[in-house]
Amino acid sequence: MTFSEFALSQAVLDGISNAGYTEPMPIQREAIPSILEGSDVVGCAQTGTGKTAAFLLPIIELLHTQGHARRYRPRALVLSPTRELAAQVVEHFEVLAKGTGLRACAITGGVDIGPQEVAFGNGVELVVATPGRLREHLSREGLKFTDLQVLVLDEADRLLDAGFLPDVRHIIDRLPERRQTLLFSATMPLEIEQLAHAILRHPKRIQVGLIQPRDSIREEFYPVSENQKSELFRAILAREDGIDRMIVFVRTRARAASLTPILAEVTNLPVGELHGDLDQKQRNETLEAFRAGELRLLVATDVASRGLDIADVTHIVNFDVPNTAEDYIHRIGRTARADRSGVAYTLVSTRELTLAEKIRGTVRRPIQTGRIPGFPYEELSDDGPSLMPGRSRLPRQYHERETGDGHRPSPFTKSGSLRRRHQDQSDPQENQRNRKKRIERKAKRKLPHKRRKR
Ligand code: AMP
Repeated sequence: MTFSEFALSQAVLDGISNAGYTEPMPIQREAIPSILEGSDVVGCAQTGTGKTAAFLLPIIELLHTQGHARRYRPRALVLSPTRELAAQVVEHFEVLAKGTGLRACAITGGVDIGPQEVAFGNGVELVVATPGRLREHLSREGLKFTDLQVLVLDEADRLLDAGFLPDVRHIIDRLPERRQTLLFSATMPLEIEQLAHAILRHPKRIQVGLIQPRDSIREEFYPVSENQKSELFRAILAREDGIDRMIVFVRTRARAASLTPILAEVTNLPVGELHGDLDQKQRNETLEAFRAGELRLLVATDVASRGLDIADVTHIVNFDVPNTAEDYIHRIGRTARADRSGVAYTLVSTRELTLAEKIRGTVRRPIQTGRIPGFPYEELSDDGPSLMPGRSRLPRQYHERETGDGHRPSPFTKSGSLRRRHQDQSDPQENQRNRKKRIERKAKRKLPHKRRKR
């Protein structure tokens, strides 16, 4: 199939050639005709498979046939969860709409509000905004959505979760009821989709492929104690070929800031950090340097997990296990964009085992358990920050023999603790004492339960 089979103007087809696209990707094949017909759409497709163009192309067609927007009255709005993603959507638009004369602007926080007002004042057809800053504009004079025809929620499940929902609701309440609404994401939990139906009219649901990571991503989970993560990271890297660019995801901003110099030393690569504690100028510069290849490794929080399209990210490392399977899918989706492949490694400490198992369960495919031969694994202990209530227990598959580079014995004993590397050299008396302590601890844990029973 070619793009010329869609009802698109020559100017839009020229934009497609300008982007270098020769044939539509599956989500584009399905979504473009439905959006051109005027339907509301819920579009789900795996990360990196062309969702942005799937909604931008029909929107450009619609805007193009209607001429310029009035001042302060944009006709299409894309909401995006991060500033970086908003900027990227505007960049895509500029490539695809080249030659149509249409204008777009990004309305995001962290920069002066004044120039954004000037942009509305001059007139733009499309606004791509993060919810917080857009709400701020709506509380001032000027911007009005009376002419709005199309609303897109990009990374819709994130925009409809509790953090963003109040702002998103506030914005949607100020849009005309007669409009076309499009929701796109690589993940769409059922409860979010049900919530979304309140803002949609008879939507067409388009799903391309299963909601899981792409097959072109090789995934492995590496159990390791928290305080050995940096060391294991170095060991993993030492046996990797072909690292072009790598993103290391961590849980918090503080962790990103503290880990960046450590990983710079461990890898000897130019390393940058990307998280919400940096001002927008720093964030933009870092991302730019990473895109340009001046930085080879990016230590990032989930601010970089959604939508960012950076060519040649060959490796993703989850230094901390993400909170949800959706976050996992989005994080590792930063590699293997379009027709490329990539690898994704996740370091799993004891306290993260339950989260890791939930992810395994949700992505519905076997993820190999990785182990570096000869690495001086310590016993897995309950170290690091507590991430979930209750004790984590080592799930069954961690006891199984590993596959991969031939059969290797599992690093775990039956009781669920990591087998010591030099067990044969350890002191038998100490082993005996430790065993006794373990039995005592176990007995203490059981005690309150027994009392309750009586
Ligand atoms: P997205 O999922 O929208 O972030 O797109 C992922 C990558 O696929 C981006 O680099 C796009 O430029 C690229 N892309 C989108 N549509 C096509 C297409 N029809 N042919 C080739 N590449 C595409």
